[in-house]
Amino acid sequence: MASRSLSPSLTPCLWITVSVVCVCLQLLCGHVACGDAQNAREVILLDSKAQQTDLEWISYPPNGWEEISGLDENYTPIRTYQVCQVMEPNQNNWLRTNWIEKGDAQRIFVELKFTLRDCNSLPGVVGTCKETFNLYYQETDSEVGRSLRENQYVKIDTIAADESFTQGDLGERKMKLNTEERIIGPLSRRGFYLAFQDVGACIALVSVKVYYKKCWSIIENLATFPDTVTGSEFSSLVEVEGVCVSDAEEEADNSPKMHCSAQGEWLVPIGKCICKAGFHQKGDSCEPCGRGFYKSSSQDLQCSRCPAHSFNDLEGSWRCDCEDGYYRAFSDPPSVACTRPPSAPQNLVYNINQTSVSLEWNPPADTGGRNDVTYRVICRRCTWEPEECVPCGPNVGFSPAQSGLVDTFVTMMDLLAHANYTFEVEAVNGVSDLSRTQRLFAAVSIATGQAAPSQVSQVIKEKVQQRSIQLSWQEPQQPNGVITEYEIKYYEKDQKDRVYSTVRSKSTSATVNNLKPSTAYVFQIRAFTEAGYGTYCPRLEITTKEEATGRMAADEQNPVIIIAVVAVAGTIILVFMVFGFIIGRRYALAVKFPGTKTYIDPETYEDPNRAVHQFAKELDASCIKIERVIGAGEFGEVCSGRLKLPGKREVSVAIKTLKVGYTEKQRRDFLCEASIMGQFDHPNVVHLEGVVTRGKPVMIVIEYMENGSLDSFLRKHDGQFTVIQLVGMLRGIAAGMRYLSDMGYVHRDLAARNILVNSNLVCKVSDFGLSRVIDDDPEAVYTTTGGKIPVRWTAPEAIQFRKFTSASDVWSYGIVMWEVMSYGERPYWDMSNQDVIKAIEEGYRLPAPMDCPPGLHQLMLDCWQKDRAERPKFDQIVGILDKMIRNPNTLKTPVGTCTRPISPLLDQSTPDFTTFRSVGEWLEAIKMERYRDNFTAAGYGSLESVTKTPDQRRATVVTAGATKM
Ligand code: AMP
Repeated sequence: MASRSLSPSLTPCLWITVSVVCVCLQLLCGHVACGDAQNAREVILLDSKAQQTDLEWISYPPNGWEEISGLDENYTPIRTYQVCQVMEPNQNNWLRTNWIEKGDAQRIFVELKFTLRDCNSLPGVVGTCKETFNLYYQETDSEVGRSLRENQYVKIDTIAADESFTQGDLGERKMKLNTEERIIGPLSRRGFYLAFQDVGACIALVSVKVYYKKCWSIIENLATFPDTVTGSEFSSLVEVEGVCVSDAEEEADNSPKMHCSAQGEWLVPIGKCICKAGFHQKGDSCEPCGRGFYKSSSQDLQCSRCPAHSFNDLEGSWRCDCEDGYYRAFSDPPSVACTRPPSAPQNLVYNINQTSVSLEWNPPADTGGRNDVTYRVICRRCTWEPEECVPCGPNVGFSPAQSGLVDTFVTMMDLLAHANYTFEVEAVNGVSDLSRTQRLFAAVSIATGQAAPSQVSQVIKEKVQQRSIQLSWQEPQQPNGVITEYEIKYYEKDQKDRVYSTVRSKSTSATVNNLKPSTAYVFQIRAFTEAGYGTYCPRLEITTKEEATGRMAADEQNPVIIIAVVAVAGTIILVFMVFGFIIGRRYALAVKFPGTKTYIDPETYEDPNRAVHQFAKELDASCIKIERVIGAGEFGEVCSGRLKLPGKREVSVAIKTLKVGYTEKQRRDFLCEASIMGQFDHPNVVHLEGVVTRGKPVMIVIEYMENGSLDSFLRKHDGQFTVIQLVGMLRGIAAGMRYLSDMGYVHRDLAARNILVNSNLVCKVSDFGLSRVIDDDPEAVYTTTGGKIPVRWTAPEAIQFRKFTSASDVWSYGIVMWEVMSYGERPYWDMSNQDVIKAIEEGYRLPAPMDCPPGLHQLMLDCWQKDRAERPKFDQIVGILDKMIRNPNTLKTPVGTCTRPISPLLDQSTPDFTTFRSVGEWLEAIKMERYRDNFTAAGYGSLESVTKTPDQRRATVVTAGATKM
């Protein structure tokens, strides 16, 4: 029908035009290929070319636009519309598309491809031929029927051809296809129509394509961005949130975003997703780590192989599990190797300094694979018998600390004196507390020495003058040894820089001179023993008197005070009187220490070798270095040397050797001493380190006692010690003997020659054995009862009927006391053994040695009671000596009291209290010397006047000691 209205001359021309279109399409296809990305972003709503059936658009008036079929270059039919009413004026030919549903689109692209005939090439059309057409659209929510009302259309543009063609062009086969694109929008209705208004041109509308643009779904940075319709404006960017692909997560504070441009391009990626722990990125997805690999964090890029001593059997692991016995500390990242607790510290050695113990060790051989090894110390205090250990408690100080030690040493302070401790040193690292395997530690067991004294108490200002202050105080509750002096520290209270001065005193009083009048001073006092200084007592503030004060202290002459003083003195004398009595009574009440280990006689063993190995440690001879010979024993030489046991500090030792060519009996007797000594563990009993029985020479290794035997040591240092020091030695021997007697061991040969002295003047009982002890003793002689006996040291019942008991040891102890107080004098001097036995039988006893305090001589006499039940027990002896040490004034020797008598034996009925030469001496002995003037003023000028009461006379007799027994 359209062909009917076309000019015959124009028809072929338009057909040819279609052929040209075919050529053009071919070229266009080439463009599509290179513009794939571009086209891929388009969503086509209408493509006339794609439709092969009739388009059936509305054309009005009917003789206007005409639908014509053609073929493209592939001979595919295409549908086109043509119009060419160029001859008639006032053309108004409309062509309207079918309704186009716009979907999500807001901005619609309309691409027109058309050819347009050049009016100049058409003869006779001037004034009527046009070279443009108009493009319109109408928005509706649905189809509106096939009627066409011009006024409902909105004009989009007038479309002119860039290229028009003439008849002649056809021969040249030049491309005259025009492509024009227009954009409409934003659209708000569901759909629209496009309309083409021809006003008298010769046009072939080859194709109409309507589309909008989209950003197509994409995975970028492990995030998926969905299909996104572009914005309504040319310049708008639509922001789109990405969703992480599976097993990926958003990077912290950096969620993935992209922007969809109006051109359908994704622009400006922001943020990203990353593969979760246990997964790694492969292309646009996250894949699990393989077995034996892990990825601990999403931040890591790659999976890593399991670190040392760890494994995993699953894919997608964020960490690897530790092998058995290996651990990972809470702070360990999964990337580090699994580790284990360290082995025990090595070569633990100790050093005891009174009540402090220092430990030193080497790092463990195996640190467990870590470099955070520290050390901790576990302290336990152990009882001797039964052997039980309890934690040390909070009173023990650790320096620098108890745990978390970085260095390989520690010092424990404030331990109890003479107590057994066990210290375990454990190396720990970051995984020690996770391990359930057995703890590995190095341990030492230690016996502490003497403690420093406790604080002095009851500090009293006795006399305050303008320039001096006299103080007195009580001895510490726990002297823990012999107090040799006190230190009084003082300073002016108001002095800024607090310069201290010190004064020392051997007694429990002191006068501090050269003070300033009317000045406040602060005093502190502490005691000193062999173990060192104790802690200071609390501060005491005293102000000296004013200078101008010249008046006499009236109260000093107050008769009431004098009477009180005399009464106190009388009481003290009375105490002296009762003292001996009470002691006598108390001795009878002695109780054996319960729960003490019992001594086992090695002779009860069928095989003496078994006894040795039960009680003595077998030492490796390579640990012993013999240095020099120091003495001769019955079985061979005694040498000094060094012992270095694994894990212990090298110590000095005495080594008793068994001479070559010994008989089996000699060997047994020699080792018997070790079997006995090995059962003892006390600070005042010489300590056995061990024996060497599996090599030659056979050896007994004993702690080294630097000062050798006590008798020769005292002879060498005649008169050089204070009474307190001597009593300290005696106290040690008594403590050792108390321990032995509590164990049920009877020494039988207690004598100063069998006591050893170390460098700290600590005395230790030594020389143990059975029959051989006495055989070995040069002092032992054969008695009428048979057997060798050291007569001068032995109790009468032991001499007479070999009744050796702890009570006979007490007798010997009394002789040792005498030996000590007389600096190694031979008991009974040059009397014969027979004379000694006789004299003792007759009741005579050794007199007090020179400068011997009466109390001590009294104790000796008590030890020499004929009735052994009346003798004190060692426990009581220790108690009495402790009291004396705590009250050193009771040890003050009245001058001339104990002068060695010309006669070998002393008739002790003579009271020696009267040997005080004056009241002053006597008061000094009883710590009342400050009242000397008061006594004189009160008429007590002579000793007689003071001691004239019968009670006092008795007191002097008892104090002086025994009489003939
Ligand atoms: P003994 O065999 O016990 O009589 O010892 C002989 C001598 O060796 C003694 O008199 C001491 O001088 C000396 N001696 C014995 N044991 C020791 C020791 N542990 N430390 C130092 N010297 C000792």
